[in-house]
Amino acid sequence: MTAPSREAAAALDAADPLAGFRARFEVPDGVIYLDGNSLGMLPTAAAARAHQVIHEEWGRDLIRAWNAHGWIDLPAAVGAKIATLIGAAPDEVVAADSTSVNLFKLLAAAVRLRPGRPTILSEADNFPTDSYVAEGLCDLLDGRVALRLVAADELEDALDDQVALLSLTHVDYRSGRMHDMAALTAAAHAAGALVLWDLSHSAGAVALDLAACEADFAVGCGYKYLNGGPGAPAYLYVARRLQDGLRQPLTGWMGHAAPFDFAARYRPAEGIARALCGTPPVVALAMLEASLEVILEAGMAAIRAKSLALSDLFMTLVEETCGGLGLTPISPTAHERRGSQVAYRHAHGYAAMQALIARGVIGDFRRPDVMRFGFAPLYLRHTEVWDAVAALRAVLADEEWRHVDAAAAGPVI
Ligand SMILES: *Cc1c(COP(=O)(O)O)cnc(C)c1O
Repeated sequence: MTAPSREAAAALDAADPLAGFRARFEVPDGVIYLDGNSLGMLPTAAAARAHQVIHEEWGRDLIRAWNAHGWIDLPAAVGAKIATLIGAAPDEVVAADSTSVNLFKLLAAAVRLRPGRPTILSEADNFPTDSYVAEGLCDLLDGRVALRLVAADELEDALDDQVALLSLTHVDYRSGRMHDMAALTAAAHAAGALVLWDLSHSAGAVALDLAACEADFAVGCGYKYLNGGPGAPAYLYVARRLQDGLRQPLTGWMGHAAPFDFAARYRPAEGIARALCGTPPVVALAMLEASLEVILEAGMAAIRAKSLALSDLFMTLVEETCGGLGLTPISPTAHERRGSQVAYRHAHGYAAMQALIARGVIGDFRRPDVMRFGFAPLYLRHTEVWDAVAALRAVLADEEWRHVDAAAAGPVI
């Protein structure tokens, strides 16, 4: 096989049904952005919506805006839009809090639904916050529940009658490997356990069908492929059949049956609203909503198709043009096993990524040695993928990473 030419990549751009969506984002000059899996680009409409909420709603209408502009309904309204992306019903999702906080709420609710089962099962490579929050919960429960971490290929064997909950991230943040959600959910249910899926690296990048998989719980993040902005609100999903029995521990007033009764005692709201806690971050939710409207307009089928085309092109070009340069691919090649990012190990991965960023190609690095490239189909072109691999090849072939001052790194990598 010969490497696709830049002309071939340009032809793919010319035929790309999503090409027009790039104009809906604030794309900086001189940047090829392969980090939309960490922080998505700014949709122009999100900036405009924030301006509107701040100046026209808050600035002019003040407290009246909660009713006049539907601020109080934003967690449900934004949740309903996310539900469309993940194959859930509108009343099964709310936007709220951070992924970490939502994990705490749902992990606690899940173990309560399986009394007498002392194990939360997860994988050793799960995203750290998912494990840390589970550890915190186990600590709070004085050891009545423990977190068990196994390798991904040992999960099914580890599903026994001790497991209350299987808690997994659908697409691995390092390798981009995608779990078989339907199969693992079915295996967990067969063992009598519930399942929680973290969709942080999935929603907005891969088509999801929580209903068809009969998933119990899910959480996910608003600032990656959902382009909601830094620290955007997260979301959580609870299958309708579990909502009436849901007891989550952060029983704030926004999850009360009648918050504005100001009753002395807590009484949970009907349905998914009981998963809410405190006052919603209105400006941030409004931005996320504007961004979701762009994603919904494009549609997940087209987004997933282009995501695979971009990541296939990247992998093929690396294989054909970067041989012998020290890159070891760690991402699955099969489409049904891969999310929307591709990763390689390299002995000088951190410095190589810094050298690449200095050339305007922004990916990221995860310890110990993983170079990560994310493909956000709404604003990325095939020719940019081609140019990115050419830059990667130059960085590695000319050992540009030797000139990087690794000590100059900031606290966020
Ligand atoms: C990004 C990400 C998070 C982020 O959690 P925060 O509470 O927003 O910091 C959690 N889990 C996974 C799997 C992620 O990829």
